[in-house]
Amino acid sequence: MRQYCSVCKSEFDMEIIKQGSKEDVLWLKCPGCQGFLPHLRDEDSEANKSSEIVEEPLALEDLDVENAKEYSEDQVFVLGEVIHHRSWNDYGKIISKSTLPGNRKTVWVQFLRQGKVQLLEGVIS
Ligand SMILES: [Zn+2]
Repeated sequence: MRQYCSVCKSEFDMEIIKQGSKEDVLWLKCPGCQGFLPHLRDEDSEANKSSEIVEEPLALEDLDVENAKEYSEDQVFVLGEVIHHRSWNDYGKIISKSTLPGNRKTVWVQFLRQGKVQLLEGVIS
């Protein structure tokens, strides 16, 4: 499946690793950075709208960037925490948390520039 990797900044033909139980998310493995990224289908579906995630535009002044925590997939984050994503040089705020099949923990982050992104957390390597 062709998918754009925002880490590698290019498109790859990615292997599908796992399909979520809700069937709205596919996990793809990027051959470039070996990272996993969710491929969301039906982004504007009814199911998605009724989810608890509320997308609100963020402004830099809304974020306490001085105390932002550096994002790393082995870290664990709390709701409302401000993070900095080094690869994207973008700041964001944790707006929701969820657990995927296989007990993979993720956080939804509202970034200033990237918008709403789902990232892994608590990965034990
Ligand atoms: Zn990549």
